[in-house]
Amino acid sequence: MAVCKSCQVEIQDDEFIRNWRVCPTCGHHHRLASLEWATLLFDDGRWEEKDTPLYATDPLHFVDSKPYKARLQATWDSSGLDDACRNILGTMQSRPVSASILDFFFMGGSMGSVVGEKITRGAERSLELGIPFITVSCSGGARMQEGFYSLMQLVKTSYACGKLRENGVPFISILTDPSTAGVMASFASLGDVIVAEKGALIGFAGPRVIAQTIGGELPEGFQKPEFCQEHGLVDMIVERKDMKETIHRLIGILSDTPTVVGRKKK
Ligand SMILES: [Zn+2]
Repeated sequence: MAVCKSCQVEIQDDEFIRNWRVCPTCGHHHRLASLEWATLLFDDGRWEEKDTPLYATDPLHFVDSKPYKARLQATWDSSGLDDACRNILGTMQSRPVSASILDFFFMGGSMGSVVGEKITRGAERSLELGIPFITVSCSGGARMQEGFYSLMQLVKTSYACGKLRENGVPFISILTDPSTAGVMASFASLGDVIVAEKGALIGFAGPRVIAQTIGGELPEGFQKPEFCQEHGLVDMIVERKDMKETIHRLIGILSDTPTVVGRKKK
């Protein structure tokens, strides 16, 4: 039995999974694992994982409440993931698509060297094959345990997404809860189309930090998808039940528009 994090109602496990972890009572969107996103977005059985396994090292010998190496080992053991991103190559309505899907259940979806490398490889695969690229963000930002190596991933992933734009390869960025800090300061805000999931927190610094910094109150709904859409950061807000159809429609439109796609530089 699952319990809704918003309205606390109890939900049968099979109903919760069938409903893609959306509460049937209040509509709260709970986080999906990267594997669930792949299953939701791609054609049934027509996708495979790429670029795995890639494991982080510990170049800084970082220790907070425990050593980074121990934290990694524990997360590898408990999550079954190699890191916080899954790269998928598959089809959506029979059109080939490359995707990089972040996974919050691996250290909060934080972007360290491995996540940066996977997103870069996902984008490069799109460029190489001339097929659309999709990212699904679910991340609190850069991985502090990798310090500057994490920050370098902002540059690296932005460069890879810039190459897509230069070559007319479509890039759709899906923002889920949360999409904050390092990912928003890099690839996640660079999509040709930016799709926010209903209820997602979207922004750079947290609201409390910003309020303290500016010494004032924040506007209502700040960092919610509706606010981001009104201010031009987000193109559309989509409920999870409509996400597959919406993304497939966008892929179709982008792929069928001769001025937009296909098309590596001559
Ligand atoms: Zn609920």
